[in-house]
Amino acid sequence: MAYWNDYYTPETVEEAVEILARYDGQACMIGGGTDLLLEIQQGHRPKVEALVDPTRIKGLDQIVEEDGWLVIGAGVTHTQIVKDPRMSKHGTCLVESCGVIGGPQVRNVATLAGNIAHALPAGDGTIGTLALGGEIQVAGPDGIHWFPMEETFIGPGQSTVDTKRMMIARIRFRPTGDQEASAFRRVMRPQGIALPMIGMAVRVKLAGDVIASARVAIGPAGKVPFLAVKTMAFLEGEVPSDATLRTAAETALTEVNLRSSPHRASAEYRREMILTQLPKTLAKAVDRARSGEAVPENVGA
Ligand SMILES: Cc1cc2nc3c(=O)[nH]c(=O)nc-3n(C[C@H](O)[C@H](O)[C@H](O)COP(=O)(O)OP(=O)(O)OC[C@H]3O[C@@H](n4cnc5c(N)ncnc54)[C@H](O)[C@@H]3O)c2cc1C
Repeated sequence: MAYWNDYYTPETVEEAVEILARYDGQACMIGGGTDLLLEIQQGHRPKVEALVDPTRIKGLDQIVEEDGWLVIGAGVTHTQIVKDPRMSKHGTCLVESCGVIGGPQVRNVATLAGNIAHALPAGDGTIGTLALGGEIQVAGPDGIHWFPMEETFIGPGQSTVDTKRMMIARIRFRPTGDQEASAFRRVMRPQGIALPMIGMAVRVKLAGDVIASARVAIGPAGKVPFLAVKTMAFLEGEVPSDATLRTAAETALTEVNLRSSPHRASAEYRREMILTQLPKTLAKAVDRARSGEAVPENVGA
């Protein structure tokens, strides 16, 4: 039996929302389909009457600069993000996080919007975007509005974006500027292809010798993609010495909620990885902020 009956490629955001409304919960958005189609096929979610594909909506297949933001359309794939020099320089952790998703075949079709809409606590692109202070533009029955990403997550795989009635149209973040940079790192099982044992992304702004501000995102470290706010507050005003970065990781351990997963890693192992890898991730961002040079690492790994 077919997994869906109708497939729509609307030309405007309004049309996409109108189709979803018409199907009254029996249709949903699709990006690359790399999560969605497997879930339907494997019976983890019900079949739908219709799929709504935003990739033909004019402008949503592009990354643009708008009013001081870098704006990523819903149809933009991980490969497009990885290949964009503006993203490498001003959103390095996003390139590094999107660049490790699946293999090239997955990255060529899968979208950042789909990664965020899936709302998994360990979604790599989601963690990268969260560290950058990303916002999502949601279109639905109540109109079109921008939200800080962290306000939209509710639980594992759940967000305020009801993908049967709403779409993420765009994602945006402020590009990193002078004395500012970001970095991402993840720990993966050998031969693992999907989600990591633990992933982390940071954005750091320096003011001379001290950290003026920092954002730290870790996943999976709770029920939702986790923003380590205590760690961020601790880092503010500190000199980024080895001792400080180690204390930042210890602070992160006081606020994360780590689970043991039979498929990926024990909570103890994840703790150890935060303790050893978060200082390195922060140090990388600090180095990049100091040197003004940001070359994404481990992309395609
Ligand atoms: C082999 C393999 C390896 C993978 N490895 C990783 C990995 O390492 N890290 C990782 O994070 N993920 C991984 N994934 C998962 C997946 O590829 C990513 O999450 C991807 O970014 C999903 O994007 P998509 O466009 O394919 O989403 P889809 O599968 O099309 O959709 C996912 C969900 O988002 C909704 N949706 C899609 N677009 C929109 C939109 N514009 N607005 C609202 N809702 C929307 C859909 O309704 C669905 O609920 C892997 C998948 C596979 C098959």
